[in-house]
Amino acid sequence: MIRSELVGSIPRPDELIVAQRSYRYGMISRNQLNTLRKKAIHTTVQELEATGSSVLTDGEQTKPSFLTYPIYALVDECYTFSANCFALTFSDGHQRSLPRLAKAPFRYAIYAHTYIDEAKKHTNLPIKQAVIAPSALSMVYPEATIEGYSREKFLADLMSEAETDIRECFASGAHSVQLDFTEARFSLKIDPTGQLLREFVRINNRVLSRFEPQLRHRLGVHVCPGADKDCYHSFDIDYLLVLPALFELQVGNFFLQLSSETNRHQILSRIRDLMQPWHKIFIGVIDPLKAKIETPEEVCERVLEAAIYIPVEQLGTTDDCGFSPFDDDQSTSRQIAFDKIRARIQGTKLAEEKLNMMRMKKKE
Ligand SMILES: [Zn+2]
Repeated sequence: MIRSELVGSIPRPDELIVAQRSYRYGMISRNQLNTLRKKAIHTTVQELEATGSSVLTDGEQTKPSFLTYPIYALVDECYTFSANCFALTFSDGHQRSLPRLAKAPFRYAIYAHTYIDEAKKHTNLPIKQAVIAPSALSMVYPEATIEGYSREKFLADLMSEAETDIRECFASGAHSVQLDFTEARFSLKIDPTGQLLREFVRINNRVLSRFEPQLRHRLGVHVCPGADKDCYHSFDIDYLLVLPALFELQVGNFFLQLSSETNRHQILSRIRDLMQPWHKIFIGVIDPLKAKIETPEEVCERVLEAAIYIPVEQLGTTDDCGFSPFDDDQSTSRQIAFDKIRARIQGTKLAEEKLNMMRMKKKE
C-alpha cells in the first residue's frame, strides 16, 4: 500500500482568524477564543477524514506558527526583536522573524503533545504531529554571548526541550512525529558553503540520536523552499545541493516537496542514490501555492514517475508543504486545501492499482 500523509497545516476558518485578532486586541476572552479553536479542530479533523486520509493532523489550527509555537508565549518576557534577528525572507519581500533570546535559560512554554491531546478527542484515526526542528530554534541565540549562559549551555537546553517535545508526542499516542526543517534549503542562501546546513544537521542529529531505533522509524523530516502567502523563500536554491546533508538525518521518513520542481527526474535519481533500505520517501504531488486543483490522474502520473526511481514499498505521497504554516495566512481557502488532499488520496490509490497490475503482468 502506498501511504499518503499531509505535512500538517490547514487554513483556519475565517471566524477563528477574526477571533485570534480580536483576542490580541483584548476584545474577546481567552475562553471565547478557546471555544472557537476547539470547534475549528473538530471540523478540520472531520473534513480531513472525509477526504479519505488514513492519517490525520489537527490542521495546526492553534499553533501560532510551525516555527515559533514552543516559545511564542515567552516572547514578551524573554526575547527581543532587532535588525539582526534570523528571518525567512520570501520572494515578495515579506519576512518571518525569529526573536533573539535575551533572558536565560532557554525553555519551551508549550509542547506539541497538547495538540494531539485535543485532536484525538475528535477522531479514532492515527494522528501525525509536526514539531519544529531544533536547528531552527538554535537561531534564537544571539551572536554576542549571553553573560553566564554560553552557546553550549543553550544548545544543551535546546536539545533537552526538543527531545521532550518529541517524546511527549509519542507518549500522547502520535502515529509519527515530523521535524519541520524548512531552513535546510534556506540556509544555503545565507551560507552557500554549506557549513550552516551541516551545523543544522549536526544539531538535529544530536537530538535524533537519543531515540531508540524503533522510534526513529516513526520519526520524519519535512523540507521545502517555503510556502507562505503564496511565496517561496528559497526556490532559487538548487535542491540537489540540499539532499546529501538531508539524508544524513537519523529519521525513517522523508516528506519532500517535489511537485513544483521542473527537474524532478534528476532529483528522484539523486534521492535513489542517497536513500537507505529503511527509509520511506513521501514525495510531494500537490502544490499548495497553486490555486488550480490537481486531478487524481495528474497525481497518479507523478507517483508512476517516482516509482521508476523509488521501490514501491518505500514510496509514499504528500503535499509539497503545509497549506498555512503561519496562523494568519489566508492565501489558500480551506475548500481548495481539502480538494487538493482528496485528489492526492485518490491519485495515490489509482497509481497503486496501476502499479499492482503492472506487477501481476510481470509475474505472468
Ligand atoms: Zn514546508
